[in-house]
Amino acid sequence: MRLILLGPPGAGKGTQARRLVAKHGIVQLSTGEMLRAAAAAGTPVGKRAKEIMDRGDLVPDDIMVEIIADRIAQPDCVNGFILDGFPRTVAQADALHKMLGTIGGSLEHAVSLSVPNDELLKRLSGRRTCRDCGAMYHIIFDPPTNEGLCNKCNGELYQRDDDHEDIISSRLEVYESQTSPLLNYYRNHRQLVEVDGIGGRDDVLARILAKVGISKP
Ligand code: ADP
Ligand code: ADP
Ligand code: ZN
Repeated sequence: MRLILLGPPGAGKGTQARRLVAKHGIVQLSTGEMLRAAAAAGTPVGKRAKEIMDRGDLVPDDIMVEIIADRIAQPDCVNGFILDGFPRTVAQADALHKMLGTIGGSLEHAVSLSVPNDELLKRLSGRRTCRDCGAMYHIIFDPPTNEGLCNKCNGELYQRDDDHEDIISSRLEVYESQTSPLLNYYRNHRQLVEVDGIGGRDDVLARILAKVGISKP
């Protein structure tokens, strides 16, 4: 199965992608995580991306398309994947369409998680991320058992540089102007599945599974 998770920052794409991976063994491809790993490793692409991410802007399409093309050519993606954070522009969606065409595959669904802006602000300002495994927490909605430490790997939880209020509002604007046109794009391709992203994580996961036709384990 090949899926895209669409939605504004804070909609729960990463949270739900990780659950799908854990429960259904689908490979998760998170471009945000890939860029943060490259930034932490200090690679040239990582350094350039970090500056752009910290402003809340999008990394140029050519860089993103190359990263994803390399990644989906890996053997673990043969049976499918779930894209979390890509595509984010119509140009990226077109590039993905071409890439899948060359490997003879297609996309099953583009799942859009909708969450209103006031809730997104609360989610993003309280988000904490594990430095070691990338797991997401929330200081109020999903606190870790031990403050500041990841439940899964005991890694340090930190607040992303782009999860501060002034940058969050720019990211929401960037989503509106550059990414939200993808909803119509996938609607026109008859691949769009719209899911209400409000409510408990398990409820949201159940809605996604029902709409994409994966049965519960
Ligand atoms: P995205 O990848 O779309 O930016 P995340 O999955 O990182 O979003 O979630 C953003 C924040 O909201 C995180 O702190 C996460 O713990 C929290 N969160 C995710 N899903 C829910 C939910 N259904 N209800 C409340 N908070 C949630
Ligand atoms: P979010 O929580 O906003 O969904 P991500 O972790 O997916 O965050 O992305 C963080 C940042 O990484 C974005 O604000 C952007 O700067 C960059 N980024 C990630 N994916 C892409 C992409 N497909 N195209 C351009 N920039 C991207
Ligand atoms: Zn961890």
